[in-house]
Amino acid sequence: MWPDSTRTSSSTRSSATDVAATLLDYYRDLHTRYGPQNWWPAESPFEIMVGAILVQSTKWQNVEKAISTLKTYGLLDPARILEIDEETLGLAIRSSGTYRVKARRLKGFVRWFVDRGADAGRIKELGVPRLREELLAIRGIGRETADAILLYAFELPTFVVDRYTWRVLTRHELLPEDVTYDEMKELFEGSLERNRELYGEFHALIVRVGIEHCRSKAKCAGCPLEPRLPRRYSETEIGAPERV
Ligand code: SF4
Repeated sequence: MWPDSTRTSSSTRSSATDVAATLLDYYRDLHTRYGPQNWWPAESPFEIMVGAILVQSTKWQNVEKAISTLKTYGLLDPARILEIDEETLGLAIRSSGTYRVKARRLKGFVRWFVDRGADAGRIKELGVPRLREELLAIRGIGRETADAILLYAFELPTFVVDRYTWRVLTRHELLPEDVTYDEMKELFEGSLERNRELYGEFHALIVRVGIEHCRSKAKCAGCPLEPRLPRRYSETEIGAPERV
C-alpha cells in the first residue's frame, strides 16, 4: 500500500518545519468542529486488537457485526480463538469481509498474544520499538494495524497514519504524493508532543474528516479544513484536485 522509499523529498509547498508548525492548527480546527472522538470503542484491549485486524479494508460497521457475533458465541477470547478451527472462526467474522484471510491473520496474532502471556498491561512494558517489530513480524499485520494496536490497545504513544492522512496532507500540499507511511508517521511524531491521548484523538479526527469530506472525490465545501486549502483552490472555489 505504501511505497518504501529512501529517496530525498520531492519539492513541496512548505518546508518540513512549516508543516510541523501547522499540524496543531489542523488538530484544533478538527477538534473544534467535531469534538472528542473517544476512540477506540471497545470493552477490553483484546477487543481493540481484534477490531484493528478485522477493520482492514472494510467499514467499521462490518467489524461491529463481526465482534458482536464473536461475543454472542463466547469467541472474543484468546484461548477460544486458538481452540476453534479456522473455518468456524471465519464464519463468525464473515461480515468483516475476506473472512478466511482474516481468520488466519487473527489466529496468527492471537498465537503471538498468548505466547506473550495474554496480558496487555505486561506486554506493553516491552515498549514501542520491540513490540512494533514483533507485531510486524506476524503475517498480515502491516504498519497501520500494528500502530493502531500499539496506540489504542496497548496505550503506547505511536502515531497511526492511513489513507485519509495521506489525502489530507497531500491535497493540502503539505507533503508530496510519494511520501511513505514512515515519513508521514515521523512527521507527526517529530512535530507533536509525545502524548498518546493527542495521537489517538488526532488520528480519529483525521478519519472523521476523511469519511465525511476527504473521500476519493473530495467534498471540500463545508469541510473544517477548507480554509486551509492552498489558496489557488480556495480562491477559485474548485476544491482540492481529485486523487485516489
Ligand atoms: S478541504 Fe477538501 S482536501 Fe482539505 S481535508 Fe477537506 S475535503 Fe480534504
